Amino acid sequence: MARAFVTGITGQDGSYLAEALLDRGWEVHGLAASPPASPPASPPAGMPSASASAQATVHVGDLTDTPFLAGVLEDVRPDVVVNLAGISSVAASWADPVRCAEVTGLAAVTLLELTWQLQQRHGIPVRWLQASSAEIFGQPNLAAGEAITERTPIAPVNPYGAAKAFAHLATGVYRARGMQASTVILFNHESPRRPHAFVTRKITATVAAIVAGRADKLVLGNRDARRDWGWAPDYVEAMVRAIEHDRADDFVVATGVAHSVGDFVAAAFAGAGIRDWEGLVETDPALVRPADPGVLVGDASKARAELGWTPTVGFEELVARMVAHDLGHLGHLITAD
Ligand code: NAP
Repeated sequence: MARAFVTGITGQDGSYLAEALLDRGWEVHGLAASPPASPPASPPAGMPSASASAQATVHVGDLTDTPFLAGVLEDVRPDVVVNLAGISSVAASWADPVRCAEVTGLAAVTLLELTWQLQQRHGIPVRWLQASSAEIFGQPNLAAGEAITERTPIAPVNPYGAAKAFAHLATGVYRARGMQASTVILFNHESPRRPHAFVTRKITATVAAIVAGRADKLVLGNRDARRDWGWAPDYVEAMVRAIEHDRADDFVVATGVAHSVGDFVAAAFAGAGIRDWEGLVETDPALVRPADPGVLVGDASKARAELGWTPTVGFEELVARMVAHDLGHLGHLITAD
């Protein structure tokens, strides 16, 4: 049985990844910033679930606590370290750029070095997978219709992207040093486990609250920003394939299709069965971010060719699943008209 150490195990991707690895028979250890809440009695619609008997071992601590992490790695002796922990939102990185640099950048590279040291000390290979981000590319100067690839120049435009770029480039440095170190360059991916601080979950939760009579308005910033949105369990499947792949590399993980925040709003109201919704949405200029990349679309040809990976859930379906979950949470079911 292979053994994984997954940081950020209580986050959206970490929870799906733990389930996916447990279902494949892996032993899973994880790092959580705080003790995990009890799991739900049953997973939301459309969600994978781990076999009831299998559970991850959660180590509670901070990613910036180097002595603690060194001790955990020595105790666990993982075959693979997957670094998902970090300040995962651009907005949070603007609020505290230094903390973002410490956690998402420096702590990631420190853990990479600890993983390398573990490998060298015991003479056994330890694989590394870093959750990289489309935000490392900033606002790339692409021709019309051209998508971001692994070769697009790295030029971040926000603190999150800069911190992620540091960890991304360091992974390449350790790969050149002889480590089986890969990155998955993740474009936006969503699910009912997405925290409410993200615009997608804010939209689906607010639309559900409007249907339930618990909210009047959906207030948003820039509705024209376009993103390449995928289904989080699909992206976790790409991570598993990258871990199991024998040749370390960087892999863009994306759907290749862009939708605007406005499209997301329309799909969410459609998913909730509301046709006449324009008057329910307001714009607040205070919510518009500084230096928001206009459009980010990824070309996952390499992941498709080398990992055999393709997304399985389309845009409308993923939005509908999130809305259905949030409605179910409020005790509402969607009725067909
Ligand atoms: P997430 O739900 O925000 O999970 C991140 C996890 O990291 C959380 O469980 C968080 O714990 C933990 N964490 C944060 N600071 C920590 C610290 N100092 N010490 C220990 N743990 C800490 O993010 P996600 O959506 O699963 O994303 C996983 C990774 O992929 C992240 O690195 C993210 O930047 C990257 N990524 C995600 C997307 C996306 O669309 N989801 C796109 C590109 C890249 P607490 O909640 O307890 O603080």
